[in-house]
Amino acid sequence: MHELGIVFYIIKNVKQVAEENHVDHVSNVVMDIGEVSTIIPSYLTDCWRWAADKETLLKGCKLTINTIPAVTLCDDCHQEFETVKHGKTCPHCHSENTWLLRGNEVEIKELQIES
Ligand SMILES: [Zn+2]
Repeated sequence: MHELGIVFYIIKNVKQVAEENHVDHVSNVVMDIGEVSTIIPSYLTDCWRWAADKETLLKGCKLTINTIPAVTLCDDCHQEFETVKHGKTCPHCHSENTWLLRGNEVEIKELQIES
């Protein structure tokens, strides 16, 4: 239950931000989740529903997930390519001297508060 751990992490952060800003209720939490992060969005939203509804601050609060496409950069030819399609090997020069540029994010992007 990796996703449940992430949910508790999100709740902890959202609570902290809400407290600092004197917010009583959050209506939507927007997350950036990288395509090759180990998070399964449907599990995450299931865990979220279960855990968020136990909190007054987050009762009925939605979890919106933006999927960030994974991109790898080749260190030899300096071209970018789709990680999911090509893996670790550069499709341009076949080098394995590559590293993940983005796609591993698990970030809280935005909190939306109903007025
Ligand atoms: Zn290359």
